[in-house]
Amino acid sequence: MFWDNYNEAMDRSLLGKLQIKLLQETIKRATHSSYYSKLFKKERITPESIKTLDDLRRIPFVTKDTLREEYPYGFLATSKDKIVRLHSSSGTTGKPTVIFHTANDISEWTGLLARCMYMTGVRFGDVFQNMMGYGLFTGGLGFHYGAERLGTLVIPAGPGNTKRQIMLMREFETTVIHIIPSYALYLIKTLEEMNIDPTRDLHLQIGFLGAEPHSEATRQRIEEGLGINAYNSYGLSEMCGPGVAFECQEKQGMHVWEDSYILEVIDPKTMKPVKDGEEGELVFTTLKREGMPILRYRTRDLAVVYPEPCACGRTHRRISRIKGRADDMIIVKGVNMYPIQIEKTLMAISEVGSNFQIILDRKDDNDHMIVKVEVSNDVFQGDLKKLQNLRKRIVNGLYTEILVTPEVELVEPNSLPRSEGKAVRVIDNRDQWGDSENDELQA
Ligand code: AMP
Ligand code: ZN
Repeated sequence: MFWDNYNEAMDRSLLGKLQIKLLQETIKRATHSSYYSKLFKKERITPESIKTLDDLRRIPFVTKDTLREEYPYGFLATSKDKIVRLHSSSGTTGKPTVIFHTANDISEWTGLLARCMYMTGVRFGDVFQNMMGYGLFTGGLGFHYGAERLGTLVIPAGPGNTKRQIMLMREFETTVIHIIPSYALYLIKTLEEMNIDPTRDLHLQIGFLGAEPHSEATRQRIEEGLGINAYNSYGLSEMCGPGVAFECQEKQGMHVWEDSYILEVIDPKTMKPVKDGEEGELVFTTLKREGMPILRYRTRDLAVVYPEPCACGRTHRRISRIKGRADDMIIVKGVNMYPIQIEKTLMAISEVGSNFQIILDRKDDNDHMIVKVEVSNDVFQGDLKKLQNLRKRIVNGLYTEILVTPEVELVEPNSLPRSEGKAVRVIDNRDQWGDSENDELQA
């Protein structure tokens, strides 16, 4: 029924015991790294001293900064000749970090991705077009090997060159895609421009959306625009990459694979665990890693845990959509908000096109927020009154969501910059004034 019946449906008490066993093995392996050997000596931590998940809290958190300080080999727990690959984070915030994998690490990761894809209905015989960046970024190679293990035909298309992507889809009858949500919206627009109707002219059935926060409204747009079932895929390179948490066919949150990762959710201010159902920062511990075990990694990603059992029968707990990274929060006129709130509002309005940008500035000693929104060509060249009405609707919708009235500028399709990787949504020009509240936040 499942890719890995035994592990995916494991009784939760057994899963808890398995986690402790794997955690003790992880601590044993981690002791071989220079970072953990010093730390464990100082804190008197041995594998045997960690008997419960509460004991894990004796071990301090690891942040991106810790990984940077220990760059490049401080966390390496095997000899260098056992390492077969390195990957790196995409570096949207600051310098990238590097993660080393043994052959076994790659194999375990591959297994998790095969599990994820199988869970959504992908099978032997499917044609999988991977439109994620290959190279240091984990979305390309990670999914690639998972799909091969599952037995699909893999088209390693990488991102960009949209017309060629569409040609590949047509010629080879692609059934499954993996794509960044902001790029999926662009793909839909290009299909429209080329007069291609996906349900009539293509064979797409399933899509995986990952690498950046996106709302339910965006998922719906993508499902309708491509005629697919779209599933949310969450991961981060520090925890291998994609394959950490993934939606099943219920689409009610993403299962975190707790036989490979321990999940904690903390209040990012007090660093104490939050109650189930409360939003907090996700913290992960690797349970199977050999090359570079990491204990209690603070992701900065905010989400909620759904502890209830899932109708699909898998026992692993689920998490909500990621609201954004704690670092993504912006403060405008003293009001806290996340770019995803703006995305959610815009994508629920059908006349809104596929791209938008938030620009923050100072004007007359006040924060000034401009939201540039691409609209469809018809709307842009249509009746001025309709355009003004649309603008008003967007301003009102945004005010209801973020409690700030931004200036909204409607622009023509393809006029805003697009990146091939994760979308850059916010341009904050306030820093040059030196008195923005966000400066304090970043300090
Ligand atoms: P990287 O290590 O470069 O792959 O970046 C990982 C980060 O991308 C995560 O920590 C999240 O902030 C973000 N991310 C990845 N997948 C998702 C997703 N499905 N939804 C929201 N954010 C995501
Ligand atoms: Zn499920």
